[in-house]
Parts: sequence; C-alpha cells; structure tokens
Amino acid sequence: METIGRAYIREEQDHLKASLATAGAVKIQDANNPYDALRVQLAPTNAEMLTPTSPGYGESIKRWSDTSEKKAAAVIRPTSADEVSVIVKFSAAQKIPFVVCGGGHSTSSASASEGGIVIDLCKMRNVSVEPAAMTVAAEGGCTWEDVDAAAAQHGLATVGGTVNHTGVGGLTLGGGYGWLTPRHGLAIDNLLSATMVLADGRIVTASEHSHPDLFWAIRGAGASFGVVTEFLFRAHPQPNPVYAGLLIFPPSALPDIVEFANAFHAKTDGDQGMVIALSSPPPTNAAVVICALFYNGPASAGKAFFAPLLELEALGNHIDPAMPWPLVNTMINAVSTYGGRKIFGGSSFRMPLTLDFMQALLKKLTGFCDSHEGVGESVVALEILSYDKVRAVSNEAMAFCNRGDYYQVGTVFKWHDPALDEEVRVFNREFNRWVREAGGLGNDKEGVGVYANYIMHGASPEEVFGRNAARLQELKCVYDPDNLFNKWHNLKRSR
Ligand SMILES: Cc1cc2nc3c(=O)[nH]c(=O)nc-3n(C[C@H](O)[C@H](O)[C@H](O)COP(=O)(O)OP(=O)(O)OC[C@H]3O[C@@H](n4cnc5c(N)ncnc54)[C@H](O)[C@@H]3O)c2cc1C
Repeated sequence: METIGRAYIREEQDHLKASLATAGAVKIQDANNPYDALRVQLAPTNAEMLTPTSPGYGESIKRWSDTSEKKAAAVIRPTSADEVSVIVKFSAAQKIPFVVCGGGHSTSSASASEGGIVIDLCKMRNVSVEPAAMTVAAEGGCTWEDVDAAAAQHGLATVGGTVNHTGVGGLTLGGGYGWLTPRHGLAIDNLLSATMVLADGRIVTASEHSHPDLFWAIRGAGASFGVVTEFLFRAHPQPNPVYAGLLIFPPSALPDIVEFANAFHAKTDGDQGMVIALSSPPPTNAAVVICALFYNGPASAGKAFFAPLLELEALGNHIDPAMPWPLVNTMINAVSTYGGRKIFGGSSFRMPLTLDFMQALLKKLTGFCDSHEGVGESVVALEILSYDKVRAVSNEAMAFCNRGDYYQVGTVFKWHDPALDEEVRVFNREFNRWVREAGGLGNDKEGVGVYANYIMHGASPEEVFGRNAARLQELKCVYDPDNLFNKWHNLKRSR
C-alpha cells in the first residue's frame, strides 16, 4: 500500500505524457486533421462528434466530480455497437488515446481524456424488459434510473446502484452493490451476457457460452476489456412499494446505533439494508449520523424491524412507509450531488461494530473537515448489506475478488479549492488504510477487502484483484494486447 501514492502520480504523469504526445500529433497533422477523417466515416451514421468549438462541448466534458473534467480533443456520441467499433478502430489506427464514458462518476478521471477521444455512451440509453424471460437489456450508456424505471413497469428489478444517476456501465463492470444485493447478489452475479466492442473493433457477445474467459474477466474488471454496448441482466419480482428512508441523528445516538447495527447483522434475512453515513455538512458543520434504511416489504414489517432505531430521538425523520421501489435509489441522491471536487475511496470493516471504532472514525473525519475549508460535505458510509448471497459465489468464479466476511466502507471527500487536491488525496488514502486496520480486516484470506469501484487508482492489480490478477493479465494479452483500455485500474502495471 505504501506504493499507492507514488504509483498514482506515476500513472498521472504517464497519462499527461500520452496526452501531450497526442496533442502534438493532432497539431502536426493540422493540414490533414485526423478528426476530419473520422467525421467523414461517421457522417452516414447517427453518431455525434463534438470538438472544443462545438456548441455543447463544455457540457459534454462535465463529470460528477470537477476533478474529472478534462479537455478532450473530441467527444463522440455513438448510437450503436457498429459506430463504437468505427471509433475504436480509428483511435487504435491513429494511436489516439481514448476513454469510455458511461455515467461519468469515476473520480479518477477514468472516463475523461486530456487531449484524446471520449466515447460518450449518453445516446445509448435504451432499456428493454422481457417479463416472460425475466430479463432486462440495458444499453451501455444507461443510468440506473433508466433501468429501475423500465423494470418497475413490469413489477421487476435487478441489482443496481444506490444512487440512480450512476452509470450501469462502470458500476456493473466493477462488481455492483445495491439494496438488492442481500437478496440477489452483485450486479455481476445477475449479468447474463454483454455485447462488447473489443480493442480490435470486433463486436462479440460475452456470456457463459460465448467467450467464457472474457465473460469471467469483465465481471469485475470489465472496463479494462472493451466497450460494453449492451448488458443483459436477470430480473426479479420486486415488491412495490417498500419501506425506506433516512433517519438523521446527533453523534450522541452512536451507542444505540452501534447496538442496533450489530442486532441488524444478526437478524437480517436478506430483505433489509442499512447504511450508516457520517458527515458534518454545512451550514452548521455539526456532525451527524445518517441512517439510510431499506426494508423490501410492507410498512408494518419495516416498522417492526427498525423499531429500536425509530424509537430514538432523531434530528430528522425522512422515512417513507410506502416508497415506490424506483425511488429507493434516489434517497441518498441529495448527499451525492454533482459539482465540487471529489474523490472516492474504499475499505472494509468486520462485524461486530464497536463504539470505539465508530467514535474514532467520526473524530478523524470531523478533525479533517473542521481544519480544512469547504470539506464539510464529505461523507463516510458504512454499508451494512448482508453479503451471504455474495459469498455464495467463489472469488475465483469471476475476476471480482472481493467476497468476504466483511462490509464495505465508501468515502467521498468533497472540497472546492484545487490547492487542497493533494492533501485530500493523501488523507483519503491514509483514512481508508486506518479504517481497514481499526475495523478489524487486516489481511483477509477470503477476499481482497477493497472494492475496485471505490479504491483510488494507483493500487496494484494484486491489491485490487488478489489471486485473479495473474489470469486477468493473461487475458489482457489476448483481448487487448496493446492495453488500449488502460484508464481504469491499469492491469498491465507491475507491482
Ligand atoms: C454518488 C455515487 C454513488 C455510488 N454508489 C454505488 C453503489 O451503490 N454501488 C456500487 O457498486 N458502486 C457505487 N458507486 C461507485 C460506482 O460503481 C463507480 O463510481 C462507477 O465507476 C460509476 O460508473 P459510471 O458509469 O457512472 O462512471 P464512468 O466514470 O462513466 O465510468 C467508470 C469506468 O467504467 C468505464 N465504463 C463505463 N461504462 C462503460 C461501458 N459501457 N463499457 C465499458 N466501460 C465502461 C469507464 O471507461 C471508466 O473506466 C457510486 C459512485 C458514486 C459517485
């Protein structure tokens, strides 16, 4: 872990060099601008191409975090796998670096490009639901809002993210946890197939029966293997409405919350979820403990299950006893808004939760936020979602290697002053390292204990994929030998 900071900086420098080289290449070829050639190739299609002088370009490079806004040479919005294939082949032939943008939530700039091409999938957001087959097909640029809404029309749902403006693409390809994980596993556990454009431009289907090795790889490390233009998910009958919402407490409630969390862990049967989030938001910057609760069933059962928490004196009660299912993945949108500089981080902790751990966590967080201007919207979330179903699948079954007897912690640090960038990054890394130790994880033998979609880039493939790293690197040589898909966790980087 000591090498993460240096590796991160090295990776950024490599990207900068590549971008400068690209910028140079574009300039030298001004007389015969390569993007003009691409424009000609795409002219008969429905793809849209934006360059820095195009109307709408500024909007097209915006991301969930301002730190990920980069000045791409071209943003191209395809509408089909064929069009994606044209762009990938063109970029490879011209040696222009490219990235794929799904929902745009990566805080490591994995979906942004300085001087290269962005393949922006925002025009590929169709969803089709087959109630008889119990499947949901989602195009590669969908957000979870698209999927939740379409599936709900048929009384169905699949496992997706807890914030519905995140992308189906990035979230699924890295694993995918959500409120339905305790009942149905990860998003990748429900992925039946994916239509993909590979680095050489071929369009293939990856499934248990077609390119099974590729299917193994994309379930956990998918962003490193191609552009997924369509996902096919297994759907499940979904009760509607459900019992869900937020309770906001002062830190003095922590002893009772910790006691409840441990009781929750012991009694949950897969139809409940609880996320404990710590923050000290403006305008008061007073510390609060937010409990996001979900009971996948009727109000009477939800109320009974969460009674010990409901009886506590809360600063705010935003529980909806009959929340329409598609709104469940909006309940923490209010603390996950666009704008500002942000960095995601991740670690894990083991139950039972202790009061000492929670109090130390809060002290560390508020200590940092109180001593730095404009950092109060940062959030640390402990995701208490039963992983029994996740652990029923082995860590070797797919590239994803984070199935263990622990829960995830997600950190989102948010700030405004670019001068704080490095300090926040360092704190985020140290904080998550501390959580892992203090939360009792140490060196887990079962799973890696970090979620690839949360941990900052710069970690080694072994840290992120554990014993699956070597096989992933072999498959990378088969499916992307020139490492064109290198902006997510870079599988080709050695330890
Ligand atoms: C507010 C917030 C809430 C979150 N909640 C959850 C949660 O509940 N559960 C969870 O598991 N994770 C969660 N995450 C983490 C989330 O999984 C990652 O941020 C993920 O990368 C988001 O995907 P995206 O498509 O929005 O991002 P992007 O930045 O567009 O993409 C991330 C990576 O995936 C690649 N990619 C995207 N789409 C495709 C595609 N179709 N084909 C190939 N590559 C693609 C991109 O190239 C990039 O490398 C959350 C993140 C945020 C910011």
